[in-house]
Formats: sequence, structure tokens, C-alpha cells
Amino acid sequence: MSAEVHKLGVAALAREMEAGRLSSVEATQALLAGITRHAELGAFLAVNEATALAQAREADARRARGQAGALTGVPLAHKDIFVTDFARTGLPTTAGSKMLAGYQSPFDATVLARLQEAGTVTLGKLNCDEFAMGSANENSAFGPVKNPWDLQRVPGGSSGGSAAAVAARLVPAATGTDTGGSIRQPASFTGVTGIKPTYGVCSRYGMVAFASSLDQAGPLARSAEDCALLLSAMSGFDARDATSAQRPPQDFAAAMRAPREGATAAQPLKGLRIGLPEEFFPSALAADVETAVRGALAELEKLGATLVDVSLPRTELSIPVYYIIAPAEASSNLSRFDGVKFGHRAAQHGDLMDMYRKSRAEGFGPEVKRRIMIGTYVLSHGYYDAYYVQAQKLRRMIADDFQACFQHCDLIAGPVAPTVAWQLGAQGEDPLQAYLADIFTLPGSLAGLPGMSVPAGFGQGGMPVGLQLIGNYFEEGALLHAAHALQLATDHHTRAPAGF
Ligand code: GLN
Repeated sequence: MSAEVHKLGVAALAREMEAGRLSSVEATQALLAGITRHAELGAFLAVNEATALAQAREADARRARGQAGALTGVPLAHKDIFVTDFARTGLPTTAGSKMLAGYQSPFDATVLARLQEAGTVTLGKLNCDEFAMGSANENSAFGPVKNPWDLQRVPGGSSGGSAAAVAARLVPAATGTDTGGSIRQPASFTGVTGIKPTYGVCSRYGMVAFASSLDQAGPLARSAEDCALLLSAMSGFDARDATSAQRPPQDFAAAMRAPREGATAAQPLKGLRIGLPEEFFPSALAADVETAVRGALAELEKLGATLVDVSLPRTELSIPVYYIIAPAEASSNLSRFDGVKFGHRAAQHGDLMDMYRKSRAEGFGPEVKRRIMIGTYVLSHGYYDAYYVQAQKLRRMIADDFQACFQHCDLIAGPVAPTVAWQLGAQGEDPLQAYLADIFTLPGSLAGLPGMSVPAGFGQGGMPVGLQLIGNYFEEGALLHAAHALQLATDHHTRAPAGF
């Protein structure tokens, strides 16, 4: 059995444990061995075998007492943007930054505390772009992550370690965060399923803040079903996050399975209207991506969905709008890293100002510094009205454009990214290239809408392509339902990269 553990997703692992064919300790040991074997991917920043095995033993004992839930004993790993209680897990929290290297948090992020209460086991912390800024995981202070489908290519970012670990079968599922696409885009680049819920569904308490009005947590897994199981445990109101949505707890797995009214066995999506924004299919969209996405849309049609034309006229503007608002918020959030309140302190310094300057110069990487400078600029007197206020007005218009679309459709679909995963180092020193590639994920983020990446097929070089599904506020259940129906009819999501 243990030789096969890496092939099992979340639901399958839980089933094996419930049937008594596998213990959490056995599963944990097998996965820890795989993580060591595939260190070349750079997916993990920290692993703690002793605390993981202790949690697994506890989960097995809980099951023996007849108190197991849907996730008890399931091993997971977490993006290193979530703080982990060092005393409990023995795991530091770095946010991919030298600024926080070795940081020992005194508490767990709410999302992780909830997964822990559900009985999951934490194997370790996953590499990510520094403070979640990036689209390729090349901005991590601890080195890049490699895409298991092609070790010369990036896994996407900023949740690149999470996506690579799930795709390489090192973990059945992982947590990630998405500010402008960081769950959906790496999921697309590595052929896994990921969901960013509506802003406010998952607590941000204990998530190292990047852009607070955009940051959301969510799962990356091998199927919509596994995402639903994780999201049910992770989500829910938290009084410690002022923007947490006050809604009753949700069972996303039940919502995923609930049949649509008027649906039939052959046509589970009968009556579902899927809107295709013309701006999501521009001439610059890579042909291989378009072919795979259109193939998945044809499958959805076979399952009963109807495709309708809609328009998101401000799609292109979402790039400048996001790259004003996100850096503005980041410049404010990152002011706490001054070598006194938090973070690295320069060994050699003069007076207080000199210490701040040297500590921040040494602790932050180039992309983070760039964003702090842009953010400070757009918030400064004289530029605030010209940039920040304009961007906020456009953000509202982008959100309104989605509501106009949802008059005509139930879900919106399109590509996640304009191309498949690119080569490591391909973007050189030009950050604009990466910013432009965020075009299809940023609109939904700015509107605060839920979005998913679902494996749609393969493109150039055998690289995975994701289909993006966007729903209206709190329509995670509808997204998961459509993705699940697609996955019951197709097998793209079951493919593993060679050697994993
Ligand atoms: N690529 C985007 C950025 O660099 C999104 C990152 C994210 O979602 N965390 O900001």
C-alpha cells in the first residue's frame, strides 16, 4: 500500500484510512519519503518529520476512538505565507523572504488552525514568491521551484511550491493564496485543480499580508472534489479578520454534488449558461491554450451547458489598476518589517534611520522593493488622485462589468493564462512581461469573485492548460459543481508528470 500512497488524493486517502487499509502514520511516512526523494523541485522550504508523525499518531488515535471526520489523518502542506505555531509544528514562517528567515510564529493562521482541528497532518511549508509577489515563483529568496512536467520551466506563482508539490504527487493537496491569480495560475501551469473563493470566505488572520483588499486563501488539489473537502474545513467566519464574511458554515462537497434542477444523468449541466467574454480570447492568446480551453468548453456543452457571448470591456485595464492598488496596499503592509517590530535587522548600522534603511535594503528582494516604491509613489500627495483614486474608480467599474455579464450567464469561462508555463529565467529582468500575463486572473480578483482553474488538456511541450471558471459572489458551490461534472467526464486531472 505505502508504495501507492502518493497516487491517492484527499478523498481516496480518507477512504483507505476509514476502511482500515492505511494509517495516517503510514501515509505520512510514505509522503515524507517522497518529499526527500524529490528535493530537486525546490517545492518545500521546511519539513518537520517528528511533529508530522506526532500529528499522524494523534489522528490515528482519534479514528480508533470513532471520532474521525472527512479529513482526519490526511497529510497536507501549506504555503509559507500562512503562519504556523512554531511550538506546535516546529516549522518557521518565511513568506519566501530573507526578511522573515527563521521567523517563529507564536500562533497558527486561522485557516491552518481549522485544518488542524479537522485532524489533518502538516508535513511542511511550501516555497512561494516573496510576500506572494510574482507569477513564476522566481522571486523567492530561497530559490525557484521547478515545474514537475518540465524541470526547465516555472510552476507559476506565487503559490508555485503548492502547485508543484500537488502535481508531483508529494502531497494530496496544499493550501495557497491568491491576490491576483496565485492559486489559479500555478494550478493551470501544473495541471492541478485550484479554487480562490469569494473575498471574505476564508479568514486572512495569520496570512502574511500582501494586498489586504485582494488576498484570499484556497486549496490546490487533484480534483474539484478534494478542493471542496478542504475548502469546507478552511472557510467560515472569523471575528479576528474584519473583512471575514458573516455566513453560516458551508458544505462545499454537498453543494458540488447537489443535482441541478432539470438536469439528467447524461446532462448534469443542463440549463447552465456559461459566458465567454470576448476579451478573454484575444488574438494574442496562444493557439495551444485556446485549443485546450475550447476543448473543455465543448465538453461542458456536451454535459448540457450553453455557451453565451458576454463582454468584460475593461479586462486590459485590470493590469494597471491591479499594479497600482496591490503595490499601494503592499507598501503600507510591509512597513512593519523594519528590523524592530518584525524582521531581519542589519548587523552593521549607524542611527535608527540608518538601521531601518540597511535592514530593509538587506531583507527585501528586488521585486518587493519595486512594489514598495511604486506603492509609496501612487499614495503620495499629488499622485494619490491621479493614480490611486482613479484605480479605485476603475476597480468598481470592473466589478460592475461582471454584474452586467451575470445578467446573461451563471458562470464565466476562459483561459487562466495566455500561455503555458514558460522557461525558468525567460522573463529576465523585465517585470512587465509577468504583469501582462496576469490579464485573465486580475479582473476576478479586483471584483472579489470566486475563481477556479480546472485542468483542460495539454499544450505546447506537453504542458498542462487550465480552464478558468469565475462565479458570482459566494457561488463556489456552482463552480465546484461544474468542475466536478467536467472531471467525471474527462481525465486530464488524473494525469501525472513522468517520474512522479
Ligand atoms: N502575479 C500577481 C502578482 O505578482 C499575483 C500574485 C498573487 O496572487 N499573490 O502580484
